[in-house]
Amino acid sequence: MRKVLTTCGYCGTGCNFYLNVEDNEIVGVTPKNDHPISKGKLCVKGWQGHSFVHHKDRLKKPLMRQSDGSFSEVSWETAYSYIGSKLKKIIKEKGSEAVGVLSSARCTNEENYLMVKFARSVLRTNNIDHCARL
Ligand code: SF4
Repeated sequence: MRKVLTTCGYCGTGCNFYLNVEDNEIVGVTPKNDHPISKGKLCVKGWQGHSFVHHKDRLKKPLMRQSDGSFSEVSWETAYSYIGSKLKKIIKEKGSEAVGVLSSARCTNEENYLMVKFARSVLRTNNIDHCARL
């Protein structure tokens, strides 16, 4: 079994643990006893939160709703292009305050920083919030 040191991605506390990996699959977690924050302790999300990694329902590619209501897999380029065109259209018709951004506690600080920059500098809106307040 291989042990891979990582930082928990579920909240901003930043607990560390080892992912126990067998045959390229995560089979469990071992806390890092000498980590200054977690000190060998984890909440239930740290212990069990890895199950999504190999889950069969995990979304790995963008899906786009079709006219009949079904979803079809599309490329990232297609998805981003569609999102960009819709945001431009809304801002042109309704102004920047008509759009907003929701970020996530599961993003890194750097990703959340970029989200703020994107909202304020690109979209020109202060409408940005975070899942911890939802
Ligand atoms: S183990 Fe729990 S408290 Fe620690 S970072 Fe993960 S979610 Fe947060």
